[in-house]
Amino acid sequence: MEILKTKRLMQQWSRARKKKGKTICFVPTMGYLHQGHISLLEKGKPLCDELVLSIFVNPSQFGPNEDLDAYPMDIDNDLRLAAVAGVTAVFLPQKEDIYPPHFQTRICLDSLPHHLCGMSRPVHFGGVATVVTKLFHIVMPDVAIFGKKDFQQLQIIRQMTWDLDFNIEIMGGEIVREKDGLAMSSRNAYLTADQRKSALSLSRSLHMAGQVIAKGEKNPLVIEKEISCFIQSFPQTRIEYISFCDPATLETVGVIDKQILLALAVQVGKTRLIDNVLIDPPQ
Ligand code: AMP
Repeated sequence: MEILKTKRLMQQWSRARKKKGKTICFVPTMGYLHQGHISLLEKGKPLCDELVLSIFVNPSQFGPNEDLDAYPMDIDNDLRLAAVAGVTAVFLPQKEDIYPPHFQTRICLDSLPHHLCGMSRPVHFGGVATVVTKLFHIVMPDVAIFGKKDFQQLQIIRQMTWDLDFNIEIMGGEIVREKDGLAMSSRNAYLTADQRKSALSLSRSLHMAGQVIAKGEKNPLVIEKEISCFIQSFPQTRIEYISFCDPATLETVGVIDKQILLALAVQVGKTRLIDNVLIDPPQ
């Protein structure tokens, strides 16, 4: 496994592989790897000749009062896990290499970022789209894999890739959960033991909503009321949003008569957690 610490070295590596006719699968991350990240690497491993992992805590996707400085890191453990997963190159750029002085370009999309997480994180998806664009140009992958845990991010990357003719196949990986249902996240490391219990309110409420819809409830407002009471019954929780929306446009739906995305953001203590599920109404 090669470790490439500058964009020039990464580009040279990718160009050399492409010259030999090799295909490249790419999994971008911010590190502190867990089984959710590993599942994306495992999905990608058989798809291409090369498997590239990037680890970069991207400052431009954090707002001024967010957790950029506190974001957990353990590069040694990440490299060990990457080698076990069969990664052939790890791209570990420095901030100055990605955002040199006088950098001034930003990718923005008209509609998808203005829903769900974008409402409270106005700079987030511009930062994501910009860094992913740069990483795509540097790594030059044939396939790139993103987790459905960040469903809105996945849709934005799909849209951007299509809009801007990147010629990269974007694939989604299923959400990996702890045994008790909590969606894995690097940010779970922030939770105290009590908060960890409250964090279960997210996955449990998604499950509850699925059961209510399976029984025939079609009104999102009725279900929203029920799950919001449920989440609030857990200590230290503050709901940011509960959204029943169209999975393609992320626009709110008024009636559940086709597949919907139910997406949540809840602050547990100081930690912001997200989760989601696709739900089909009964036939
Ligand atoms: P991050 O390091 O949090 O930026 O995540 C890197 C990639 O891993 C993104 O595509 C995430 O959607 C994905 N990811 C994070 N957590 C999970 C999870 N629990 N299951 C599946 N994919 C995940």
